[in-house]
Amino acid sequence: MDKKVIVITGASSGIGAAIAKLLAEQGNQVVLGARREDRLQQLSNEINQVGESTYAVTDVSDLASTKALAQTALDEFGRIDVWINAAGLMPQSPFSEGRVKDWNTMIDVNIKGVLNGIESSLSTMREQKTGQYINIASVAAHNTHANGGVYSATKAAVWMISEALRQEEAAAKSGVRVTVVSPGAINTELVSKVTDKNVQEGMEAFYKAFAISPDRVAKVIAQSINMPADTGINEIVLRPTNQIG
Ligand code: NDP
Repeated sequence: MDKKVIVITGASSGIGAAIAKLLAEQGNQVVLGARREDRLQQLSNEINQVGESTYAVTDVSDLASTKALAQTALDEFGRIDVWINAAGLMPQSPFSEGRVKDWNTMIDVNIKGVLNGIESSLSTMREQKTGQYINIASVAAHNTHANGGVYSATKAAVWMISEALRQEEAAAKSGVRVTVVSPGAINTELVSKVTDKNVQEGMEAFYKAFAISPDRVAKVIAQSINMPADTGINEIVLRPTNQIG
């Protein structure tokens, strides 16, 4: 496999951290972004025992901060081959509770964070005439349920943004691939950050019964990166075998 420079947002835990470890083990240079510096530093040190990484403290809801992450990749490794938008959060609740702050945070991180990632790296990929976006949506992009309206809306937006970007880059023959990944229940820190305690309890029980390891998501993402450049894996949906919805 060719060595690639891979930027990962949301790399401080869960799916992003699992992807970073696997891709570094496969010989790629990984650039980690998230807000918790202690976690990034620890993961980067761990990866640097066997591979190559660097990190930048990043808030993806802020364009300047996200651009600084891209600049770190360019300064350290000279290019950006893959940009993985994994930063996200899922504080679900019923509309009647009026948790406006949570709605805005999900919109800022889950949607604007992805747009900021694209804006921070697309011109570089176009100049290189090669690149790939991996945007983490969710099975919640395909279906919704009570309490999940805003989260599902943000993930459906990620799906739509990804498909439009894919069509634009294909038409431009830019060599930029787009992959949208929709996981089901994955065992990460996601549920621990749900602010509505009743909703959180229900989710914890569900995740305890069904959730699978983030390594599974890392494996399918690595597969999409390792495909020959003339082939894009555009959509991946994966969930625990026994998860119904
Ligand atoms: P985690 O909570 O373990 O990871 C979320 C990551 O996002 C953390 O690294 C966190 O880092 C980062 N993050 C949150 N806000 C920001 C921000 N403003 N700027 C930069 N980074 C931020 O959850 P997961 O690994 O599960 O979540 C990863 C993605 O996968 C999310 O998009 C989620 O919606 C999606 N997903 C998860 C599923 C699951 O069941 N776990 C299922 C389907 C999709 P920090 O706090 O340090 O900034």
